Amino acid sequence: MSAPTHGGRAKCLQRLVRLDLPVPRTVALSFDTVHRFTSGYLPDVSGILAEFDEKALLCVRPSSEDPDWGGPRAVLNIGMNDARHAELCERIGEASATDLYLRFIQTYAVDVARLDAEMFDEMDGTGPEALSAALHRFEEEAEVPFPQDPGVQLAEILRSMARAWEGTTARLLRQAKGAPVDAGLGLVVQEMTLGRGRGESGSGVLQLVNSVTGLPQVTGRYLSQSQGREALKGGVKSIFLEKDKRGASLEELAPDAFGALKHIAALMREKLCEEMQIEFTISNGELSILDGVRVERSARAALRIVVRLAEDRIITRQEALMRIEPRALSELLHRQVAPSSARDILGSGIAASPGAATGRIVFTSEAAQASAARGEPCVLVRRETSPEDIRGMHAASAVLTERGGMTSHAAVIGRGLGLPCVVGAATLRFQANRRMLVAADGRVLKEGDVITIDGTSGQILAGSVDMIEATLDDTFRTFMNWADAERDIGVRANADTPADARAALHFRAQGIGLCRTEHMFFETERLTPMREMIFAHDPKDREAALELVLPMQRADFLELFRIMQGHPVCIRLFDPPLHEFLPTSRAGQRELAEALDIPVSDVTRRIESLTEYNPMLGMRGVRLGITVPEIYDMQARAIFEATVEASKDGVAIVPEIMLPLVSAKREVELVRARIDAVAAAVRAETGAQFTFRLGVMVETPRACLRAGDIAEHTQFLSFGTNDLTQMTYGLSRDDAGRFMSEYVRQGVFDEDPFHKLDTEGVGELLGLGATRGRAAQPDVILSICGEHAAHAESIAFCREAGFDYVSCSPFRVPVARLAAAQLALADKMK
Ligand code: PEP
Ligand code: MG
Repeated sequence: MSAPTHGGRAKCLQRLVRLDLPVPRTVALSFDTVHRFTSGYLPDVSGILAEFDEKALLCVRPSSEDPDWGGPRAVLNIGMNDARHAELCERIGEASATDLYLRFIQTYAVDVARLDAEMFDEMDGTGPEALSAALHRFEEEAEVPFPQDPGVQLAEILRSMARAWEGTTARLLRQAKGAPVDAGLGLVVQEMTLGRGRGESGSGVLQLVNSVTGLPQVTGRYLSQSQGREALKGGVKSIFLEKDKRGASLEELAPDAFGALKHIAALMREKLCEEMQIEFTISNGELSILDGVRVERSARAALRIVVRLAEDRIITRQEALMRIEPRALSELLHRQVAPSSARDILGSGIAASPGAATGRIVFTSEAAQASAARGEPCVLVRRETSPEDIRGMHAASAVLTERGGMTSHAAVIGRGLGLPCVVGAATLRFQANRRMLVAADGRVLKEGDVITIDGTSGQILAGSVDMIEATLDDTFRTFMNWADAERDIGVRANADTPADARAALHFRAQGIGLCRTEHMFFETERLTPMREMIFAHDPKDREAALELVLPMQRADFLELFRIMQGHPVCIRLFDPPLHEFLPTSRAGQRELAEALDIPVSDVTRRIESLTEYNPMLGMRGVRLGITVPEIYDMQARAIFEATVEASKDGVAIVPEIMLPLVSAKREVELVRARIDAVAAAVRAETGAQFTFRLGVMVETPRACLRAGDIAEHTQFLSFGTNDLTQMTYGLSRDDAGRFMSEYVRQGVFDEDPFHKLDTEGVGELLGLGATRGRAAQPDVILSICGEHAAHAESIAFCREAGFDYVSCSPFRVPVARLAAAQLALADKMK
């Protein structure tokens, strides 16, 4: 009897027997045996029954390799028939005996004879009349009498459980949970202890930890027969385990059994290396252990449980690390909807940034800021967000958009800010101009109505709900320290603002891997000079406008350097197309005309001249650096001046400057020459010495193919898999959300490639880029900074390809740290 042949439950029971625990007699049937039941092979019921006392009632429970894969439900009280019923009436009383028989008839009717569950609905009696009515009803519906032979009962039950496991729905469900196609089912036949008798009798479950907090606490349920008929009818009137003021407790009713249970649970924890829940019965004061199952647990309880197991030296730290699913850590880093809370679902979309928040609906960035100023939490609802909405997003508690996918603006910023966010919520109708949102069921929501955004599940809920708070306690820190001791690839954070940088440091990122500087330009006092710059007629005017921005940028970088305390900071120069800085509304255009003291027609003409058919493939990134070089000059100067200033604190700063959207070596040569010149000028002006690293963001397919040439001029290559995915597929990252779910549903894509790295296509380009870059320049530092970076699959890919680090949103840094540790450990185990 071992896990791969008989399943987890059988294995656990075998170990309990070896520990000399009072486990009722048990026979385990292997995967092979059970599988053969579905192809006409008859179970050897007489052989099985010979193992048990003739009078015993039996139960059969499923035993698959992983309990999460589901399986047929257990069948209890097998062997119950008219004769056994008569005997039991004597032994445990008529009410109990009839109750057992009735329950067995119902289970058999539904699970084995496949009759409608409703057929017993109107039969709610418990006495002898109810019993004969149930037997009669069975015979009527099944057209055969209820089987009286325990052998026939057992054979039918074994066959039907085996068939249920092979059914298509069951197979698809377990495969969705990671079960292999040929996952087997074992079955465990066990003698029942009835938990009924003259002395203290009952049944229950007990565990030593709280399933929600993971803290030590004896908890469970015990149903004593002494609670009478009501309890026997299946009422959930449990009694307490430990003695307290609330009434009867197991500790008082059966102190010896209670003491033994605590001892057994501790022994199981130690020997099975897991926090276990014991299923037990007490018959006339005598304890039986029916089963042990892994304690169910919330994400935070799971972490506490493994850390305590490792601290008690029951498992190793490495084992503890392997037992936590990296994604589950996100749940600890954000507030969540309490599992017990009712959900009034208005609609759903893509779960783009985890966590939950409640607030009043606002439809504009301005309204979000006003709401924040009043101290009122709000949910910013937009068709989609653009850089202009940044301030509103900062002010909001959560964001909901109609359009967009995993790498849309709202999703990226939401994750960066740790802001719950649902995007692509196409089941709701957005009527932004009428300030209305219409739910899937027709309910109309107006500005000011309260909703809850659950960015973990992608649901939009009406009103407020109960939440559980985020926890970053000592357990979390201890666990993450263990992870860092194992991992062999760096983890940095994508951080644009001081708040992001602080979060990055808090989550122990080893630096900033991507600072998207354009987000710094949307503050009002910068927006105006930026717009002046865009409207300038010649380089001189442009420089003059940028002069106003320079001190602000310098202050931005200085603050980032100071917060990051000498950890590397990689600053990406300006990336978006310029038109994103110009107003879209007529009123905004009028305001701008006023501010710049020019006619509105000039403003509209300029906006028209900047309009592109395909802005994401247009004048953006390094292309601006070459055609409007004053912007990059200003940014380089701000970076160097901040470097000089920050280095005065005693921490040497070596800034990293990254060029976006490069596709040709010459682009790098041209920009490098200008940046070198700015560095020389700042050195001469300040008399200070400093160095810097220049790198390229590899996010066009051509940059991957030509990475060899490009690497000659750079110290690092950082793969921007958001744009690279967009360009490899020729799929707009902002619009793909509209049909992505259909594509995934029809199996065109396994998953949204903006969410999960396409290791085949995009991955081949990454691999080519990495190999060619390294061949030309062996010291070149390789990293990934797209949204894929926190996923275990992408990290695995990057480790294999010899990358130095991954860079992801600050709130996903712990997820990446754990995923990286698990990969390193899995390699060691190999
Ligand atoms: C990318 O393209 O992968 C990237 C990280 O940059 P952005 O999302 O800002 O385009
Ligand atoms: Mg990009």
